[in-house]
Amino acid sequence: MSARDGDGWVECACGSKHWGKFGAAGLLALRDGALFMQHRAPWVHNGDTWGIPGGARDSHESATESAIREAMEETGINPEDLQVQDIYIDEHNGWSYSTVIAIANATLEGHELNDESQEVRWVLLDDVTQLPLHPSFARTWPELRQIVDNIIAPR
Ligand SMILES: [Zn+2]
Repeated sequence: MSARDGDGWVECACGSKHWGKFGAAGLLALRDGALFMQHRAPWVHNGDTWGIPGGARDSHESATESAIREAMEETGINPEDLQVQDIYIDEHNGWSYSTVIAIANATLEGHELNDESQEVRWVLLDDVTQLPLHPSFARTWPELRQIVDNIIAPR
């Protein structure tokens, strides 16, 4: 195991503060028209909101490696149940958040594992915006939805 060196806040050019010295990444897992979502604990930054499992990237990790590692730590999924389809990068002029979009097998199971998540749930794509969303996830969701729709039903 290499050292975890990505934990830390960054003052971003966009005016916000972000977690992850080398950027951050999250896992957007899809199955049967639904998205695997995480209800973040009240005490974390932007807590008590819904988003996808993810977190800080380490300097030696690819976006896919960190997204899957964070999702394993936070929700207990097995990465062998995932097939990565695409990566959407939200570029902030020096800092970036990569959303790794994957199709989940029927066998993928998640649990709320560590203390950063209070619940995980499959949420139908059309129902996502009815939840109180993490602000960054809410901002990128319309673009992510287009990519997701194209993966599920390619045109
Ligand atoms: Zn930013």
